[in-house]
Amino acid sequence: MANAWFHHLLLVFVTSCNWVYQADAYEIEFVDYSSTLPRIHGHTVIRTVLENAEKKFELMKTLNISKCFDDVDSKDKVEEIHWWHDPRRPHPEDSIETGNHHMDIFASPRKAKEIQTLLKRSNLTAVTLIDDVHRLFKRGMPKKRRRSNRMTWTNYQSAATINRFLDLVAKKVPHATTEVIGKTAEGRELKVLKLNTNNAAKAFWIDGGIHAREWISPAVVTFIIKEFVSNYSRHKTVIDSYQWYFLPLMNPDGYEYSRTKDRMWRKTRSPSLRKGGCVGVDANRNWNHKWMVVGASQDTCSEVYAGPYPESEKCVVAVRDYVLKRLKPRKDVQLVAFYTFHSYYQGWMSPWGWTSATPQRHDE
Ligand SMILES: [Zn+2]
Repeated sequence: MANAWFHHLLLVFVTSCNWVYQADAYEIEFVDYSSTLPRIHGHTVIRTVLENAEKKFELMKTLNISKCFDDVDSKDKVEEIHWWHDPRRPHPEDSIETGNHHMDIFASPRKAKEIQTLLKRSNLTAVTLIDDVHRLFKRGMPKKRRRSNRMTWTNYQSAATINRFLDLVAKKVPHATTEVIGKTAEGRELKVLKLNTNNAAKAFWIDGGIHAREWISPAVVTFIIKEFVSNYSRHKTVIDSYQWYFLPLMNPDGYEYSRTKDRMWRKTRSPSLRKGGCVGVDANRNWNHKWMVVGASQDTCSEVYAGPYPESEKCVVAVRDYVLKRLKPRKDVQLVAFYTFHSYYQGWMSPWGWTSATPQRHDE
């Protein structure tokens, strides 16, 4: 019986293979990106490698750079030099074996020359990691597709297209359903795709796009969905082991704003409660857990503005309620993983964010 059921399931998945590529037509909007990009030209990212932490701190002192590119408010004038990766945090390329430290510096053409000379004089390497940041941004902007206008992963898609993709998966793939778990400040739907092939006792949550400008994040989450539903037999063991919950776009308002108005937009788009305050909250500083304890600001214009109070943001409330009130009380399934995709680096961050101490059951 179980065998017959499995064959039926397999057949359904096999016949639904590649449906993504034959799916209904989607429009892909062309965005005039020129006004959405930060006003930079010819800026590069230079990487240097230091032997140890002391040398790193020494160089930090010498360079005396005050801001990270990530913290630059969209309204700020982009200065000539920024940290590309915050040197106070571990760099993903740092090696435990050799104990070396990497530093990535964003610099204008003029400053880049100065840095290179300085590094050379100190016998340090200076590799150009990105030779033109502006050109790289331009390359990543949504493109008009000439022949095909379907959901693809060679282009960054709009929030509307992503949500239509989720609905299409739910329509065409057995055991997949969608649910709107809430709405954003601008009224966009927060859509979760659920995939439950095996009534597994464990649930797995994956969300993306909490930070608007990190476009690769929703693209990766939708790619995982596509891979799961069009290559079921290849991923059967992992798919069957969990009940899956995907929220590719946690901050669709910010995402759309970053596509159409300001490429560097990071926060939500909720209006400020303070008179004359800036729009938006960093949703990833808005959770009601150690709110405002570390790496957060009460300046409404800051890129890490934590909001007027914890969980002021509709998307944060929607996820909190769904996870704590709907998923957690269930007796048939236990939520065992909660993943959030960010960019840019290939790093793995595990709790906690506010202390270097590890939580109970960290080893699991
Ligand atoms: Zn992020």
